[in-house]
Amino acid sequence: MIIVLKPGTEDETVQEILDHISECGLKPLHLPGKERVVLGAIGDERVLGQLHLENHPDVEEVKPVLAPYKMVSREVRPSDSIVKIGDVPIGNGYFSVIAGPCAVESLEGMQQAARAVASAGGAALRGGAFKPRTSPYSFQGLGLEGLKILQQVSAESGLPTVTEVVDVSDIEAVEEYADAFQVGARNMQNFRLLRELGARKKPVLLKRGMAATVEDLLMAAEYVLSEGNENVILCERGIRTFETATRNTLDLNAIPFIKQRSHLPVIVDPSHGTGLRELVEPIALAAAAAGADGLIIEIHPDPVAAMSDGRQSLYPEQFGKLMGKLEMLMPVLGRKLITPVPA
Ligand code: PEP
Ligand code: MN
Repeated sequence: MIIVLKPGTEDETVQEILDHISECGLKPLHLPGKERVVLGAIGDERVLGQLHLENHPDVEEVKPVLAPYKMVSREVRPSDSIVKIGDVPIGNGYFSVIAGPCAVESLEGMQQAARAVASAGGAALRGGAFKPRTSPYSFQGLGLEGLKILQQVSAESGLPTVTEVVDVSDIEAVEEYADAFQVGARNMQNFRLLRELGARKKPVLLKRGMAATVEDLLMAAEYVLSEGNENVILCERGIRTFETATRNTLDLNAIPFIKQRSHLPVIVDPSHGTGLRELVEPIALAAAAAGADGLIIEIHPDPVAAMSDGRQSLYPEQFGKLMGKLEMLMPVLGRKLITPVPA
C-alpha cells in the first residue's frame, strides 16, 4: 500500500512509521517526493489490513497498490528508473545498445566482436558462457573458460559485459567475471534463481519467457526486487505464436504497455525476436520508436561460422549501419544514445 504523509511531517515520525511497518513483518519503502513524503508497505495483504495507518495524525491518505506486482509498479515509483551495467546507464532517457555473439566461442572471436561493438558505438558486450540450448547435443558454451574470456575482453575493450546465468550454482562465478546477470527466456520463472539474484547487487537482465504474459514477466521481476535488488532491466525477446515465418513474434505492444505500468527500463532483443538477420534492423528501429530504453543484439565477426544463432547474427558492417541510424533517430525521440568511452 501507498501511504501519503501530510506536508511537513517530521523525519522522526517518518522513521517511526517505517519502523512500525517493518515490525509488522512488511517491507517498508521510503519514497520522498518534491512536495510530499510517500511511504510504501509491501507484503501479506492480511497484515496490510491490520496496519490502520489511516488513523495516524500525520497520514493524509492510504491507497492500495492495485497492480499484482508492487515494487516494479509505477504506482509505487512513478519516475523511470535508471539501471547501470558497469558505468552504462539504461532508462530514463538513456538508450544503450548491448551487442556481441550469442556465445563466447574463443578469445580471438570475442576480441574481434568487442572491437566491432565498440567502434560502431555499442555500449556493452554480450556473450553466453552457459548456453541453455533446445537440444542437449548442441554447443553448450565454454562455461568458466568463457567467463574468463569475457572478463579479459571487457578489460581490453572497456565494455561492460552481460552473460547468462542458468543455474543457482553458477551465480558466484558469473558475479565475479561479468557486470550483469542475464536470465534467459527459459528461466524467466525459475523462482529460486530469481530470489538468489535478488540478494545480489549486480543488475539482472530479465528476458521474457517465450510463453509468458507481460504480467508473468513483471511478477518475475517482482521476485528480484522483493529480495532487495532493484537493478532489473526487462527484455522483450519475442513470444511463440502460431506464426512460423519468423523464429518468434516480437511483441512491440509490450514495450509501451510495460513502460506505462512499470518504472523499470525495457530493452528489446530483435535477434531472438525475429531469428533472421535481415529483420533485425527494422525491428530494432521500431523498438526504439515504440519507447524501448535499449537493445541487445547478436553480432558475429563471421556469422556463417557461428556456433549458435548465426542466422540471426549481424555482420559487423550491418551493426555499424544500424548504429548510425539509431544515432540519427535518438534526438528525434528525445533520448540520449550512450556510446563507449575509448579504452
Ligand atoms: C541468448 O540471449 O542467446 C538467449 C539464449 O536468449 P533467450 O533466453 O531470449 O532465448
Ligand atoms: Mn542466442
